[in-house]
Amino acid sequence: MRQRLKIGPAFDRLLILTLLALGTLVSSPEAQQKITSPREYFGFELGTDRKIARWDRIVDYFALLEKESDKMKVLNMGPSTEGHPFLLVIITAPRNLASLDRLREINARISDPRGASDAEIESLIAEGRAVICQSMSLHATEIGGTQMAPELAFDLVSRSDEETVRILNNVIFLLIPCFNPDGQIMVADWYNRTLGTESEGTSPPWLYHKYAGHDNNRDADFINLVESVYAAKILFREWIPQAYVDHHHMGGYGARLYVPPYSEPLRPYADPLIWRELSWYGAHMAYRLEEAGKSGILNAAQFPGWGHFGWHWITPFHNIAGMLTESANANLATPLYVHPEQLRGSTLQFPEYEAQTTFPNPWPGGWWKLRDIVEQQKISSWAVLDIAARNRETVLRNAVLKAKRQTERGAKGKPAAYVIPPWQHDRLTAIKMINTLRLSGIEILQASKEFFAGRVLYPAGTFLVSLAQPKMGLIRNLLGRTLYTDSPWTRDRDGSPLRPYDTATHTMAEFMGVRVDALDEMPDGSFVPLTADIPMKGKVESPGAGYLLDGRLNASFKAVNLLLDRGISVRRIDTPLPGFEARAGDFVLAPEPAAILAAVAEKTGVDFRPLDRLPGQGVHEVARLRTGLYQRYWGGNADEGWTRLLLEQFSFPYITVMDAEIKKGNLNARYDVLILPHDTTNILMGESPEAYGGRMPIYPSEYRSGLGKEGVEALQSFVEKGGTLVALGDASNFAIEKLGLNVRNATAQASPKEFFCPGSTLKVAINNTHPLAYGMPAEGLVLFWSNPAFEIIPSAHNERCETVVRYPERDVLQSGWLIGEKRLAKKAAMVSVGLGKGRTILIGFRTQHRCQTHGTFKLLFNALLR
Ligand SMILES: [Zn+2]
Repeated sequence: MRQRLKIGPAFDRLLILTLLALGTLVSSPEAQQKITSPREYFGFELGTDRKIARWDRIVDYFALLEKESDKMKVLNMGPSTEGHPFLLVIITAPRNLASLDRLREINARISDPRGASDAEIESLIAEGRAVICQSMSLHATEIGGTQMAPELAFDLVSRSDEETVRILNNVIFLLIPCFNPDGQIMVADWYNRTLGTESEGTSPPWLYHKYAGHDNNRDADFINLVESVYAAKILFREWIPQAYVDHHHMGGYGARLYVPPYSEPLRPYADPLIWRELSWYGAHMAYRLEEAGKSGILNAAQFPGWGHFGWHWITPFHNIAGMLTESANANLATPLYVHPEQLRGSTLQFPEYEAQTTFPNPWPGGWWKLRDIVEQQKISSWAVLDIAARNRETVLRNAVLKAKRQTERGAKGKPAAYVIPPWQHDRLTAIKMINTLRLSGIEILQASKEFFAGRVLYPAGTFLVSLAQPKMGLIRNLLGRTLYTDSPWTRDRDGSPLRPYDTATHTMAEFMGVRVDALDEMPDGSFVPLTADIPMKGKVESPGAGYLLDGRLNASFKAVNLLLDRGISVRRIDTPLPGFEARAGDFVLAPEPAAILAAVAEKTGVDFRPLDRLPGQGVHEVARLRTGLYQRYWGGNADEGWTRLLLEQFSFPYITVMDAEIKKGNLNARYDVLILPHDTTNILMGESPEAYGGRMPIYPSEYRSGLGKEGVEALQSFVEKGGTLVALGDASNFAIEKLGLNVRNATAQASPKEFFCPGSTLKVAINNTHPLAYGMPAEGLVLFWSNPAFEIIPSAHNERCETVVRYPERDVLQSGWLIGEKRLAKKAAMVSVGLGKGRTILIGFRTQHRCQTHGTFKLLFNALLR
């Protein structure tokens, strides 16, 4: 066209724009290009009964679409945990794609307009595009989103109607077509393998993410998983979209689709406009679904505004309208028949499966298919793009407003800032926290000179987080004490407390054992924003008679493991000698090849402090205990997966142990320590699945785990012959009951009105002269999530029980929610119980929860060393 008419590029673009505006895209050059439809490519319509398109095929399809269309750019963010591509697909008009860098700069400025003039902001709004991100199938068994994504992309790049053109012109759509590529492949392969068998439509019997399983949606604050790093880069650093939707599935016996907004209660400190935006987007989604004749659409119920810190729930605190949809499940790609009387409501603002204002059109029951899910999700995804495109300026102006108002609130409010002082128990963990906050796009300041706050003098180099910044709400939730709301929204009609969706607090600093000082006013001083992560490279100081590694640092355990891997001998101080600057639990070693030590210091961040002499007594040689980590089926246990990740992060060797091996017995030949991750007694035993409502999935016999009587006998014999059994969280109940320990769980058999503590940080006293608590502070915080606490039953051998960690008499709660403090007062939180020649270590709280509770990692690490 250009050559024939001999017109300049500017005019050409104008002509195309005019044609676009007229909805006559057919005559523009790109529209004449052939775009392959998903049906042609995959050979079936996505969502067809009993068919799942596998991720590798979907990746290839996006590559093909990118080739065929000029409206799409596919970015490979990098490999997933198990090496599959994690894609970001950007869909927008060609001219937006051509100036993507400029549009991203504008978006960044809109998200943080500090210092910009009104005129500058107006011109940014005029030039900018609405940025909308949507992600699919984070939970891999919730397959609808990833099956829908190719069709949504195809519609966007191939349709030429006015609505599509408006979306492409006004919106930059960031599509994450699969948030968990590894899980998608596992589920697709498991589905095809079990097709036509009794197990057809079941979830895989193991975790559908190597480490996290379903918990991959609990990682948007700590960002431990590689997939989370990619998502954080997209959502928190590189783009900061104005809205984000994560598409999920829920149970199959209620509403057909939940769309925003959330229900009560509300997590505090987000900009109020956010909650209005969620209603606004959600109303349009519900409206478009109703318009399309879809029944069973529910909003403002079932998913509370105070949830976990997964992606859709944390984004509102980044000033992103963070939302989710939840489709009723089928049995993966196998249809599910639902009888009308099987349909039910839920406690949160949807008490009965009957018409209500937020659910005006109940689905009557019948067959429910993957294709139904695909269609609903596609309409809801489209609706978000459509309303943003129709209101581009409003969307951008609100982004500016949210950022400005949150900054102003932070500047005026109390606290005004959090100082992360240099005097930390574990200095390297504090640095890790700062770097994680930076990955979330939080601005960290560093004092270039010493400064006073009140009467405290903080030295130059001290880090400080001002609340006068757009992500104020996130900072407040992560660093400040947070009490969960106790109100009619969180109590049942009989007054019983309602379980929060996840833990009742997500206070990062408390979980990590990092001290932060809240300041009511921003101190006078000279502060400079950090522009890069704080490097964590330790050094080997001038050689002496030996070296000391600080036992308070979690990273010292990694250093010790790396040294032991190289055959270097390490000793641990039990009794500090007079005049010797060391603590019980510090590690010492003789001078060894400098290059090895330097490499370990650099890798771990740990400094090797020179000693003028090596202590000859009051020390013992460190040996790693041969560690087994119990793993089960029934969908896997996320706590087991996270424990694996933790051990790998700190270079602890371990072996995964399953039932068959345990039942064979003779465990002492191979192991010194066996870890039972947090779990219920029933599922550990593999007995009476009826206890789970009789709804245990039907798995092939080789995937039905359970320790059973033989397993219990083998574990008992293992401990009696000198082994150590470490029971984490609720697995303590299993150990108490099945091994007949002289310990009682003080929280058992209490009604929720008497005792309730759903994921809270609690104060504890720690006996850090006990080797299991070496390196710990004398007082600290633990994460308690409806777990056991211990009372020692009087016996002739009370001395066989040692209390390592104990709850105080009063004021036990730091953050979260605690009803019935008396149940915990003065009770043991962690005990070691001697049995025969061995012992069982019961850690009642969540010592290594999701690789987040850095403040208590050492209580597990110590159990793995001698
Ligand atoms: Zn989900």
